Amino acid sequence: MSEQHGPINQEHEKQTIQVSRLKTACGSPLTNKTVSTIFEGRKIYFCEKECLDEFNLDPKAFLKSEHFLIRWEDLEKVA
Ligand SMILES: [Zn+2]
Repeated sequence: MSEQHGPINQEHEKQTIQVSRLKTACGSPLTNKTVSTIFEGRKIYFCEKECLDEFNLDPKAFLKSEHFLIRWEDLEKVA
């Protein structure tokens, strides 16, 4: 799906702006390929399934690696 701009997509556009503040673990904007997981009470987004797979191999190592480009505190808390 490509980005479309126009009056028809206004409703969709609003939603996009709202979530665009959030970024994936790699610092990329959220796209339709984005997947997410919950780890230690925070929701983490990944640009694609491959990134999530890498995370699942060793979550702690991933969070410390250079692949993790956002601040832990910026992640959405989930109860
Ligand atoms: Zn990634």
